Amino acid sequence: MAALKNYDGKYWRDLFDSRIGKTTWPYGSGVWSKKEWVLPEIDSDDIVSAFEGNSNLFWAERYGKQFLSMNDLWVKHCGISHTGSFKDLGMTVLVSQVNRLRKMNRPVVGVGCASTGDTSAALSAYCAAAGIPSIVFLPANRISLAQLVQPIANGAFVLSIDTDFDGCMQLIREVTAELPIYLANSLNSLRLEGQKTAAIEILQQFDWEVPDWVIVPGGNLGNIYAFYKGFHMCKELGLVDKIPRLVCAQAANANPLYLHYKAGWDQEFKPVKANTTFASAIQIGDPVSIDRAVYALKKSNGIVEEASEQELMDAMAQADSTGMFICPHTGVALAALIKLRNQGIIGTNDRTVVVSTAHGLKFTQSKIDYHSNDIKDLACKYANPPMQVKADFGSVMDVLKKYLLSKVPKN
Ligand SMILES: *Cc1c(COP(=O)(O)O)cnc(C)c1O
Repeated sequence: MAALKNYDGKYWRDLFDSRIGKTTWPYGSGVWSKKEWVLPEIDSDDIVSAFEGNSNLFWAERYGKQFLSMNDLWVKHCGISHTGSFKDLGMTVLVSQVNRLRKMNRPVVGVGCASTGDTSAALSAYCAAAGIPSIVFLPANRISLAQLVQPIANGAFVLSIDTDFDGCMQLIREVTAELPIYLANSLNSLRLEGQKTAAIEILQQFDWEVPDWVIVPGGNLGNIYAFYKGFHMCKELGLVDKIPRLVCAQAANANPLYLHYKAGWDQEFKPVKANTTFASAIQIGDPVSIDRAVYALKKSNGIVEEASEQELMDAMAQADSTGMFICPHTGVALAALIKLRNQGIIGTNDRTVVVSTAHGLKFTQSKIDYHSNDIKDLACKYANPPMQVKADFGSVMDVLKKYLLSKVPKN
């Protein structure tokens, strides 16, 4: 920070803005356009990048107005990225550093991670691009098919283990202590250095105006800290003069941070046994970055909310019905927003950013189940199943007329 402070806020704003939309290697990447703040000493030739970042900041105009009476709601689509989740932002940094270490003949034979799906997809893609072996530990039958097929297709060594994420995490920590495998989980701060650029990018996309709220779905809790760090650095280095309030949103079925928050931060943190949730990437009971997350929330006057399966699935369906196609984790964040709106904590005109963490196409099975009205103990209120019609003109005309009548504006 001392070295970065040799330049003022305007210098950094102008530098970052000058790199947007350029292809000069590696600055076209949303992460490496902030290289001086991420991993300054790496040689550009050693960087492994898929031009991640620079993701869509979507004005959720209709969703905000229709469901929340909000005028200034935005969704930062971090999942519109090379492997379909924000994990790319951190993985480009970690794999670049490993690439560099290997060129320096350090004893790193491969890179490994435990994953709820998206981390392994990102790790295997970036490793494959650089020709580095990757090893992933996945909880058997607990991730989506789309997520499982990504590391398989990218040539990772995939271990499907009959335990949950927390069990995989424990095992890989033991294994990497014995073998020359570099551990890629987000307790590794290189990942967070890359992920924090999403926060800087949000400020940049608002022409360096600071939003009031940023809502992030949290599981292992690295990302909520990364967002804090990005905003904090922008304030410390004079690019902006304040930071937004952060909200961490958890699934009620995997809510150790929420319980810790409710008990008052001073109580001792207690891990939980995570139950099954459609938000499978945050089905984590013993988050490794708990201390960082608590720090980030305290420093940003933050809040923790939770969402039931019903709430998160309904929020996802409603958002999709206004033109988005979000993942269940983003549903968790939207459900948290609904609660904070209803309590009057977030106001009508508050500029609010919901962080969408993965692409909805990775989680189609949950949407298929919802729209088929095929989920046990869950009322799929906004299901929109296809209409079965006989292949004749009269039948097709009948259903269309009925449909159009229901859509005629009433006044
Ligand atoms: C990893 C992930 C999260 C959670 O991020 P943490 O840093 O573990 O809190 C949320 N959503 C998706 C889609 C993810 O892949």
